[in-house]
Amino acid sequence: MMSLIKRSYKYRMYPNKTQEELLAKTFGCVRVVWNACVDSFNSYDKETNPNPKFPTKSDLVIEKPWLNEVSSATLQQKQRDFIEFSRQYFNKNRKEKLGKPNYKNKHDNQSFRLPFPKFKITNNKIRIEKIGWVKIVIDRGVPDNARFISCTVSKNRAGQYFVSVLVETEQCYEQKTSKTVGVDLGIKTLATLSDGIAVENPHFLCENQAKLKRMQRHLSRKKLGSNRRNKCRLKVSRLHRDIANKRSWYMHNLTTMLVNNYDVICIENLNASGMLQNHKLAGSVYDASFSMFRNQLEYKCRWYGKELIVIDRFYPSSKTCSRCGWKNKDLKLSDRTFVCKDCGMEIDRDLNAAINIQAVGVDAAIRTQSSRVASCVEASKME
Ligand SMILES: [Zn+2]
Repeated sequence: MMSLIKRSYKYRMYPNKTQEELLAKTFGCVRVVWNACVDSFNSYDKETNPNPKFPTKSDLVIEKPWLNEVSSATLQQKQRDFIEFSRQYFNKNRKEKLGKPNYKNKHDNQSFRLPFPKFKITNNKIRIEKIGWVKIVIDRGVPDNARFISCTVSKNRAGQYFVSVLVETEQCYEQKTSKTVGVDLGIKTLATLSDGIAVENPHFLCENQAKLKRMQRHLSRKKLGSNRRNKCRLKVSRLHRDIANKRSWYMHNLTTMLVNNYDVICIENLNASGMLQNHKLAGSVYDASFSMFRNQLEYKCRWYGKELIVIDRFYPSSKTCSRCGWKNKDLKLSDRTFVCKDCGMEIDRDLNAAINIQAVGVDAAIRTQSSRVASCVEASKME
């Protein structure tokens, strides 16, 4: 049985000068709607204003007639997006609580969304309502049977334009491999798999980090509002973008390799892996990488019909012997090898952790009676 999934395709967009102006205008108007919604969200008061009403386009247009100059579908969409946000904000069943909504300003990343059929895609162009035909580069086409939902036009701080097209399409099942794997993430070795494969952490990330620091120092010395500062700011944004692109490219390779080769992927809950506390400098960078890793795995597993298991954060994966279960309570971060005092096994620390993560993950999955995992484990026993 085929199930439907939502999936997005992101393309680089090249508007001409006139279109850039139109886009800037649309970004601005959408921002006005968002900020007006934030205003009314913040006006919430238990006694005097328990049910703040979010302003619609027709409310705002009285004072700001120039809102009529852009596509009203985008403005309505923004308001709907905000209502959905506030619904999620007050959703008590939500695991990760959302923060309060922020005001947007013109220096942030800009974006607006258009529902289908307000846009149309051909080979190398996209037609956006009130903007016209804009050139795009399609590196990966949308499947023929896909149903369009919406598109999001965005501009990043480095001045590049993108359009991301959200579609509903049939889940494409990757070939079943009947293999399970545990993944241990680290700093020196980015990922260690329970079958012994180690993925190194690429050096280019550290190198760029030093460059970024230097450039940010330059920026801080420039006079506010000066031309030189602006130029320097753009340079810093570009470097940020390059680093982010490289990291994301590397992570995509890793996560795609995992969903292609394994049916069940077990990872640790990364937020609390403890090790980050000892690497304060690297902390924020790796934090971002880890959440990117988990995010990508989550949606790719959904796309390709694979299973992702996130194990309990309190399980001492690196301190437990993967052969006999003995616990080394005094294991230090500097100990790269795990030596078991009970059964005498000597094993690489990360590999030991990865094997434990796999065992615990598969166990937990069988307990919750996931039929997919059970059949997968059965199959690997038969071999
Ligand atoms: Zn042992």
